Amino acid sequence: MRMPEPDATTLDRRLSVVHELRRMVPEPGGVIHDPDELAVYECDGLTAYRQLPLVVVLPQTTRQVAQVLKYCHETGVKVVPRGAGTSLSGGALPLADGITLGLGKFNRILEVDLENRCAVVQPGVTNLAISTAVAGQGFYYAPDPSSQIACSIGGNVAENSGGVHCLKYGLTTNNLLGLEFVTIEGEVIRLGGKHLDSPGYDLMGVITGSEGLLGVVTEVTVRLLPTPATARALLMGFESSEAAGDTVTAIIAGGIIPAGLEMMDRPAIHAAEAFCHAGYPLDAEALLICELDGPEAEVEHLIEQVAAIARGKGANSLRVSADEAERQAFWAGRKAAFPAVGRISPDYYCMDGTIPRHQLPHVLGRMRQMSAEYGLDVANVFHAGDGNLHPLILFDANRPGDLEKAEAFGAEILKLCVEVGGVLTGEHGVGVEKRDLMPVMFEPVDLAHQQQVKCAFDPRHRLNPGKMFPELHNCAELGRLHVSGGRMPFPDLPRF
Ligand SMILES: Cc1cc2nc3c(=O)[nH]c(=O)nc-3n(C[C@H](O)[C@H](O)[C@H](O)COP(=O)(O)OP(=O)(O)OC[C@H]3O[C@@H](n4cnc5c(N)ncnc54)[C@H](O)[C@@H]3O)c2cc1C
Repeated sequence: MRMPEPDATTLDRRLSVVHELRRMVPEPGGVIHDPDELAVYECDGLTAYRQLPLVVVLPQTTRQVAQVLKYCHETGVKVVPRGAGTSLSGGALPLADGITLGLGKFNRILEVDLENRCAVVQPGVTNLAISTAVAGQGFYYAPDPSSQIACSIGGNVAENSGGVHCLKYGLTTNNLLGLEFVTIEGEVIRLGGKHLDSPGYDLMGVITGSEGLLGVVTEVTVRLLPTPATARALLMGFESSEAAGDTVTAIIAGGIIPAGLEMMDRPAIHAAEAFCHAGYPLDAEALLICELDGPEAEVEHLIEQVAAIARGKGANSLRVSADEAERQAFWAGRKAAFPAVGRISPDYYCMDGTIPRHQLPHVLGRMRQMSAEYGLDVANVFHAGDGNLHPLILFDANRPGDLEKAEAFGAEILKLCVEVGGVLTGEHGVGVEKRDLMPVMFEPVDLAHQQQVKCAFDPRHRLNPGKMFPELHNCAELGRLHVSGGRMPFPDLPRF
């Protein structure tokens, strides 16, 4: 994988960068530059790529973040923001000539405001900690990535993360009310607040999902929801992935939006059952877990409807959780499916593409053919209701050529997602992983316009370069005028 060439001048002045950072962040442990300690930061959740950073800085205040960013902007040093480092797309992969700016010390919940149904938190707070903090008062924060025990809310904002409950309650972007954000020039801006809408451009929408390329999030105001009165889950086994896929489509087409609608295929069912003993049907080729929540009478009614649809599509086993412990057990296998698959293969490569739901049977069938062609097995665990696929390609990094085969197979899957009308990523971001596939999805003119947004925030490309965009363009070049036949476009506009 190609990354921007490290800048020799920056490498040469490493000690002076360390000295300057120590001046800005003088607290003990605020600057890390010992190679052994830097190794902790050499990769994120995409462990296939590793790189020691130039130096790591762990600021504690927004003012310190602003000073570090301004320094990078003015002295030409690159900077990579980092939350908990669980990104699966390499978004927090360090640069040899870049500072890694970790937000781990921003770990306080600043305010719980139940009257306005929101919480104000620092970006290093873990996703799960927010729900835990308000559970006693009957509230929770809805987006729930499987990594929620570890991933930070700042990382969730930067990746626009999703989870099981996002089908009904929306992704991170739908559950944010406000942000404090530091630009590369060291300016601190506030977007949104505790209110529902703001005048002007939706800059919070621009920053959500911007993968650390536009600035650093230093405070997040999230929406809190009341815990539903009842939640029950159905476990439905099918003889084929096609039948399970058809059931997903029929449930949504029937006007039902479950709180979660997840699918696992045979390899994933067996791995999860061996790991968690969740009671999954081992004779099923595909398993659906469907959660319904709300008032008890509504949940009862919806369970009957979903069960009737599943039977009509040929479900050969169907269980409804009898109590909270059983509902949790149904989910335990799904939530631990990634580590469970880690027990059956030395390595796996987790893909993340999204397709229109009705294409599920076709895409799953094509993936089986590709699996045979590449000679690599696949386990599927995914957010079926959102059409968000997570094929786990099984390989052995110690077998020469296996990683390259897994990457090529993964790229084929993502191209297929785009071919059937879907997109390259559902929730894990582009990072370095899907960067070179962006032209499969976007025309050059689309990419140029996206980069102009980047240029508006970070004209010198200091923030996380080498991620998301396959080619870096000089910002002036992107803004050039196309003069055709001697005529200026939009002649009435003032020129600078
Ligand atoms: C086992 C496992 C399961 C997962 N399951 C899911 C899932 O169900 N759904 C899902 O969406 N994701 C999932 N992920 C991916 C990952 O957890 C999410 O992308 C998460 O949001 C990353 O958060 P983080 O704090 O670890 O961010 P990091 O990995 O540290 O960084 C991710 C990106 O965000 C940027 N960034 C981080 N903090 C900030 C900040 N404060 N300001 C600006 N930019 C910042 C970084 O530069 C980087 O580009 C999973 C990962 C693992 C390992």
